[in-house]
Amino acid sequence: MHELSITEAILEVVLKHAAGARVTAVHLTVGELSSFVDESIELFWSELARGTGAEGAALHFRNLPGTLRCLECEREFPIGSPDFRCPQCGSTQAVPHGGRDCFVESIEIESPEEVPRA
Ligand SMILES: [Zn+2]
Repeated sequence: MHELSITEAILEVVLKHAAGARVTAVHLTVGELSSFVDESIELFWSELARGTGAEGAALHFRNLPGTLRCLECEREFPIGSPDFRCPQCGSTQAVPHGGRDCFVESIEIESPEEVPRA
């Protein structure tokens, strides 16, 4: 159920940046490691956005691949590496680094003169 709280947070950010304008679309970036399910966010979104300036706004998802960071040499590399082995120093001591987040990338509002970027 953690999609509920993230969707609430998304809506808050969107409404703040829209500053009262009608929101037509929201572009979200969802990290591969975030474990947020697009469909669940969409479901909560239609409920939460009802009656707000973001009601009916289309959600667009962009999935961000997860990355690991090597604890030995700090190199960041894609999670698809064989054995999670660092391509630079060969260490297998790596921690999840990128792709854990879910955030608002940009929003589209009806009035063209102000298009805030999140
Ligand atoms: Zn390394």
